[in-house]
Amino acid sequence: MLRSLRPALPATALFLASLVLSCAAPRGATTVALEAPIPSPPAHAPISERIRYWEDRMSQLGRADQSEARLCLGELYLESDQASKARLNFYAARNGTLSKREHAQAAYGVGRSHLLDGHPSLAVRHLDEASQSLQGPEGEECRFLAAFASGKSATSSDRALIARMAPYTGNRVFVASATAHNDFDGLYQMRRADWGAKPLLGNHDVMTRPYRITVHHTAEPAETYTLAESKREMRDLQRMHQEGKGWADIGYHFLIDQAGRVIEGRSLSVQGAHAGNSSLNRGNLGICLLGNFVAQPDRGSDYALAQLPTSEQMSALNKLVRQMQSRYQIADSEIWAHMDLKQTACPGPALKRWVRNKSGNP
Ligand SMILES: [Zn+2]
Repeated sequence: MLRSLRPALPATALFLASLVLSCAAPRGATTVALEAPIPSPPAHAPISERIRYWEDRMSQLGRADQSEARLCLGELYLESDQASKARLNFYAARNGTLSKREHAQAAYGVGRSHLLDGHPSLAVRHLDEASQSLQGPEGEECRFLAAFASGKSATSSDRALIARMAPYTGNRVFVASATAHNDFDGLYQMRRADWGAKPLLGNHDVMTRPYRITVHHTAEPAETYTLAESKREMRDLQRMHQEGKGWADIGYHFLIDQAGRVIEGRSLSVQGAHAGNSSLNRGNLGICLLGNFVAQPDRGSDYALAQLPTSEQMSALNKLVRQMQSRYQIADSEIWAHMDLKQTACPGPALKRWVRNKSGNP
């Protein structure tokens, strides 16, 4: 499944090609008794040929050369999505004579092989180790993948790097929020720490690239004009979602209280739980306005009358949606009311009208 997402010619190919070229003729080849110097496999030869080239010669190489050849082979196997063969070669390389940098490259290779296999937890130790010694672009890539593997929000503002690493992350992306803390300072008027959020629990998926937005109401008739009321409501919602529903966190990415404050819900690096099943939540930013905008007389007198979104909420919603559209290039037609995606009265008629005007969807 990671495989199919792999770009046909990722930019890593360039780096890998140069690496493979650099070790096309192993150092000290002359110390090995061969009839002729080892010709390098041409860089444009198909990967399978280059793999066969090194495999065929392995036994004729001295120990130090074998280690380098194993590193090259490991990279080629990674390139051709043969994770376990890549791993074997990186381990074999480490048993030979390697410089400190090559040793780190082998660890980096082992880590990436686990990522290709879809086992980030096995990759962490190797990527962490490698990131101590790798420098430059390779070091940056390694640290990015180490953060990804350890479940920290692996983020980068470097879109090229994100794209290069897609084969290993399966495109489970981390868009821009890197540097994000700063840009987000102006976006949220209340962060998780401000409302006393409990930590994210383990049962979540990493967010894929956001390409749509879904608008909700909480269906709870709370008054949330003051900061204290608003914070209490946030804690209640998180408790309902974590303890009541068994979710990893509050389901929505953004909430907007009646004073028009934009509140940080679930981290943007984590897939939401708001639209329905997992395929509905994929790449879907959940924005929820605090309030009950649908009359629910069956739930008792508190719920009997529908509230209306406040004008502060509506202008905050307008601005937030515009910001998310421009940040993630989300089309108007990908703005949805929850009721557009599944059988529900959420978010009520007023917000449905707003969404219809904005998206052009019926
Ligand atoms: Zn909803």
